[in-house]
Amino acid sequence: MKHRLLLVAALVAAVACSCTKEEQWWQLRGAVLSVEDLQSVDWPKIARDCGINTLGTHIHPTQVCEFLESEKGQEFLQECEEYGICVEHQLHSMNELLPRDLYEEDPQMFRLNDEGVRTADFNCCVHSEAALQIIAKNAAAFAARLRPTNHRYYFWLDDGAPTCVCPLCKEYSASEQALIIENRMIGAIRKVDPKATLAHLAYANTLDAPVKVKPDKNIFLEFAPFYRNIEHPLSELDALPPEGYGQMTHGQNLKYLEDNLKVFPAESTVILDYWLDVSMCSGWKKPAVQLPWHPEVVRDDLATYKKYGIRNATSFAVYMDDAYFESYPSLAPLKEYGACFED
Ligand SMILES: [Zn+2]
Repeated sequence: MKHRLLLVAALVAAVACSCTKEEQWWQLRGAVLSVEDLQSVDWPKIARDCGINTLGTHIHPTQVCEFLESEKGQEFLQECEEYGICVEHQLHSMNELLPRDLYEEDPQMFRLNDEGVRTADFNCCVHSEAALQIIAKNAAAFAARLRPTNHRYYFWLDDGAPTCVCPLCKEYSASEQALIIENRMIGAIRKVDPKATLAHLAYANTLDAPVKVKPDKNIFLEFAPFYRNIEHPLSELDALPPEGYGQMTHGQNLKYLEDNLKVFPAESTVILDYWLDVSMCSGWKKPAVQLPWHPEVVRDDLATYKKYGIRNATSFAVYMDDAYFESYPSLAPLKEYGACFED
């Protein structure tokens, strides 16, 4: 009887979160949604029906905590558990990890800008011990409330925002400054969740691989090729991003990935791509446009990522809310997306 109970417990645990246990190549097969999307659409059911095994929440920690602690959020978590969908939280965080009103108390915790002024607009000074202590403590506090079922944490810098240029920090790139903070946060987070790992996001101004700072062994690489073109595969090395996104070719995107993979293991790396990102295609303005869906690009990109030994990939799908599905009700693109991971 006791053995049978243990077996049942093990099965429940296996169902609870599947993305780290499966034998197939693509372990994390995800989509990242805003709280608004998750509140208005039954995403756990869509994920189950489309072969998506991980749902990521987005955008800021407090907002996501408040959602998860609401009745709707609890239903979301329960449904994900029932269907075996992992839940993680992909968050622009620094603004909340170091509350801006602390500026009055100690401006040295905040970044020095190009004009030589300490400012609380974005991020922090990573050479302020007081700042790092507060950030680590608050990361642990959010970790306790968020509890991703796959133990992967994502507390990013402020979105594409400048970092500190004080005499000590200016020797470090934005990605190195991020890593200094992440190395500090992971220690505190693992006191709350001993299995925790934490993302180092390579994106926008943090695409450069860190050189002067080495990652803690529980930091994993998250690569987000923001300056890509989702209408062309990354293997088209000369492809350029859409107008207004600069001149970075797909080849340059992949060079950033390759450089980062010399610092971080491929096995634990997560790709955060834009294949389903309706918010980006809509210029971050509602009403949303229909997703320009190119399954052949996803298949080709997954093959490219797989060549590097990468086994985890997700995509922003922000703006896929109730209004979006009213205008574009077909689930065919999402089903096809899930199927791309089977190939
Ligand atoms: Zn500094």
